[in-house]
Amino acid sequence: MPPTQSKKKRSVPRKKREDSKQSKLAAIGTTAKKPAKAAKVAKAVGAGTDPKRVAAILTKLDEAYPAATCELKHENAFQLLISTILSAQCTDVRVNQVTESLYKKYPNPQAFAYANPSELEQEIRPTGFFRNKTKSIMGASKALLENFGGQVPKTMDEILTLPGVARKTGNVVLGTAFGIASGVVVDTHVIRLSRRLDLTKHEEPKKIEQDLMRVIPKEKWIQFSHQLIWHGRRVCIARKPRCLDCNLESICYSKDKTV
Ligand code: SF4
Repeated sequence: MPPTQSKKKRSVPRKKREDSKQSKLAAIGTTAKKPAKAAKVAKAVGAGTDPKRVAAILTKLDEAYPAATCELKHENAFQLLISTILSAQCTDVRVNQVTESLYKKYPNPQAFAYANPSELEQEIRPTGFFRNKTKSIMGASKALLENFGGQVPKTMDEILTLPGVARKTGNVVLGTAFGIASGVVVDTHVIRLSRRLDLTKHEEPKKIEQDLMRVIPKEKWIQFSHQLIWHGRRVCIARKPRCLDCNLESICYSKDKTV
């Protein structure tokens, strides 16, 4: 059976992408001899993680988003914890709308821990998954009171003991509220962009975070997360990335590129 038209179409762009990838790597000087450790990481994670290319990506993100930060409104670590739980499968804009009145009614862990669950469910309903989120918020608030004196703990191991809290939430709270680089926040934008930028081949958040922690210098983990999320919201959007407006275009060889 002759090859289909679609198969023919796919094979050509793939070769072009490979050529483009090689020329872009060469353009930023990544064909130079690498130190053994960096070469080992690049080999394990992917060609896109060559230290010079990663440095170029970080520089360009700094240029585009020098003041990137968490867009969830909060006045303290506890509010950020609750907002991050609410932000699962929901936009930050919607969460901020809900929390504006929520934090006036529930100003601390005690107020959430002893809330009326049905009332709280209705108050957070616009953020989606409101029943599970109510359980997580009330459970986390109780755990804070019982185990941490009502304070948000400052280590990943401790924060992960809170009901409904996984690494993404832990990284958001530790990084933004306390300036502690515990890892890289891996949300839907970071998953998409780190793959488009060839910083990982994985799809699973845990493995993506491990790859990013290997190739991004630790002192950049917090800011890099914010910058990638900002870039994903403003330019490298999911359906049709705005590559013409992207300052990373010259070093990006994603198959999703629109230029
Ligand atoms: S060039 Fe396009 S696909 Fe690549 S990072 Fe920029 S917006 Fe995303």
